[in-house]
Amino acid sequence: MSMKQPLICEIAKDTFLINEYGFDCMFFLKGKERGLLIDTGTGTFDLKGMIDSFCCLPYDVLLTHGHVDHAGGIDQFEEIMIHPDDIEMAKNLTYEERYGYAESLHSIDTDHAFAFSMDQVRRWDRIPEFIPVQEGTMDLGGRPLRIYHTPGHTPGSIVILDEINRILISADACNRNTLCVSGCTVETLLNSALKIQSLKPYFDRDYNGHVGYAGMPYICSQYDGVHEDVIAACRSVMDQTAQVTDEQFHGRAVCAVTSGNARIVFDPELIYNR
Ligand SMILES: [Zn+2]
Repeated sequence: MSMKQPLICEIAKDTFLINEYGFDCMFFLKGKERGLLIDTGTGTFDLKGMIDSFCCLPYDVLLTHGHVDHAGGIDQFEEIMIHPDDIEMAKNLTYEERYGYAESLHSIDTDHAFAFSMDQVRRWDRIPEFIPVQEGTMDLGGRPLRIYHTPGHTPGSIVILDEINRILISADACNRNTLCVSGCTVETLLNSALKIQSLKPYFDRDYNGHVGYAGMPYICSQYDGVHEDVIAACRSVMDQTAQVTDEQFHGRAVCAVTSGNARIVFDPELIYNR
């Protein structure tokens, strides 16, 4: 039997993970006064209707970054908070990119965990207003959150720390397959991975943006050593000790390096900051 709707899991009190057909995941956090939707997925279902059905508080929408699988559903909302370095990326996403992403992920859900149809990919009628968000704090009412700028995966990637629940939402910033192919150097990614690692005293769980990838039925945090593995991979590229594999990424020549259980994929022209 296949699920017809995205899957919602409460991973901590008033903290929800929404799995969009195995493509990506979003998070919804409730405080005493406001809610916060983190990411909007690829744009394949009525996300706003889903949130409105279980939250009667006013809420804001914050993007971890501007990629197709996180910003694809922004058309349903009036205002979107995003780091300024990713606004153009989110604004210029095309229907074809979103369709292509959904098609590629749908095809690897070989167990058919989700009953997804390609005509669910929605065309945008409008673009929301973008509210630039910088590193800093926000409070949902008795629920303070910290936002950190962690460029590397994209120039405007951010992570969100919920200190009360000891949860980090890192999306695609530092995970077992960290893509660094959107204009940032490996050195920039290294600095962000070190920044995330320095936050480890404040979180027990780190959720990336692809929990339950391709229909796999798990809702686990990332493994504990992922930050160290990404740091080691970046360092090995920078000190030229890495075993580098040449790969293709959307028709571009890129490189990949593995360390421990993680790998990074990067542009060979973008290693060091100048
Ligand atoms: Zn991404």
